[in-house]
Amino acid sequence: MRVGFYWRVAAVAVAVGIGGLLTSARAEGTLFRGATLLTLADGETVARNEGFLLVSEDGAIEAVGAGDPSADPVVKGRLAAGTATVELKGKIVMPGFVSGHSHLWQSVFRGIAPDGELHPWLRALHWRYGGFLEDGDFGAFTRHGAYDQLRHGVTTTYNHSHWLGKSYPRYLEQWQAELTLPQRFVFAWVNEAGVTDAVWEERLRTVLAELKPGPKSPFLGLSMNPRGAHMGGDMLTREIALARKLGLTVQLHYLEPLAESAQDRAQWPRLKDAGVLGRDVSFAHFIHPDAPMLAEVAKAGNAMIWNPLSNGRLGSGLPDIRGYLAAGMRVGMGVDGQASADISDPFENVRLGLYALRLRQQNAGGLQPLDMLRLHTLRTAEVLGVERWVGSLAPGKFADFLVIDPQQPATGPVWDAAATLVFACSSRNLAAVYIGGRKVVTDGRIEGEDTGLAADVERRVKRIQERAAAAPKP
Ligand SMILES: [Zn+2]
Repeated sequence: MRVGFYWRVAAVAVAVGIGGLLTSARAEGTLFRGATLLTLADGETVARNEGFLLVSEDGAIEAVGAGDPSADPVVKGRLAAGTATVELKGKIVMPGFVSGHSHLWQSVFRGIAPDGELHPWLRALHWRYGGFLEDGDFGAFTRHGAYDQLRHGVTTTYNHSHWLGKSYPRYLEQWQAELTLPQRFVFAWVNEAGVTDAVWEERLRTVLAELKPGPKSPFLGLSMNPRGAHMGGDMLTREIALARKLGLTVQLHYLEPLAESAQDRAQWPRLKDAGVLGRDVSFAHFIHPDAPMLAEVAKAGNAMIWNPLSNGRLGSGLPDIRGYLAAGMRVGMGVDGQASADISDPFENVRLGLYALRLRQQNAGGLQPLDMLRLHTLRTAEVLGVERWVGSLAPGKFADFLVIDPQQPATGPVWDAAATLVFACSSRNLAAVYIGGRKVVTDGRIEGEDTGLAADVERRVKRIQERAAAAPKP
């Protein structure tokens, strides 16, 4: 098993490296100019008209500005050296969205259990079909989910992987699929049941030693999806300790369905004893805390990931985001898995989230469109610990950005770019998605997309349905 794992990591590392070489043929980089630019950098509260981005040949942002680009000395020199120019007049450019909580493999189970809250839904999906996954399923389903997110403008995803399918090689398909895709990812790893902590640590160290984030690499880091969150004993304590030893973040589902919220809150002393308090631990959902708990997590620097589409779909509830932010809790956003947020569209996610808050508070105060965009980009990147590379448009970061055409389909004149994006646009307005300065999506078409994937997924899901129908219900 160990030899197999080493081989896999080494093989994909080589593949990623070669991909990087092949895609860096452009010698002088590119100047993107003329767009209305929302950098979403901290402190920047208005869009830059006639904004420009200078992207280096290796896919990083070299300069950001507005007005005449040749007034910038760096850009002037590059233009003199023959840098290519892409004219984006009439378009809006913003950083790619970051999803702080996703389960990519669920992409092929949309519409399942439409009347179920979390537990009936889990019964209908994980517990009914999870045991019937076979070789290749996790890989195909993960690719399906990542393509879907890319097409909607999610350039970085946090893949909270799952252990189904009954074997470690099958589990690893989720990881291997990601390494072959253009979308950047942080992989939340689940330990294999029954292996020692030492073996697990060595597996994680191997990945961390072999793969480094870079403008051309999809890999942004590892995180931990702890098994011990749902188990007694000291498993969670050991998992959090190992994550801290390796400098990884941890994310666990917590306080999602209303029906179980009292028993979830009763787990809080156990979770604290295991070490969950700290900036490196985030909670997916965190909808139903009590006041003392909120004060504790805010003080400790924990974050929560808000998933409005999924929380609405499953009837989980609306977290008091305004209250969390006022208390000092860190908040990021996610589109969750596509079986509970059946459209993985961050435009829908920010719009629904903001409207839901306003419906409850019955006024339009508090969070504004620009705040929502920043939550789903920079703030989420901070929660994941990847803000030095992605989440805003700033020199030194990777050139991951969206080109939005508010006239295709037409939304009328743009009065306020952030408001147009959040109130009036959808992913239909996405003209292009760039990752590392490379255009990976054009009008919904993904570069290098496996066109046979849809049919392959249909066959695989049909087989899973047939096997499950023939088996006794769990
Ligand atoms: Zn989840």
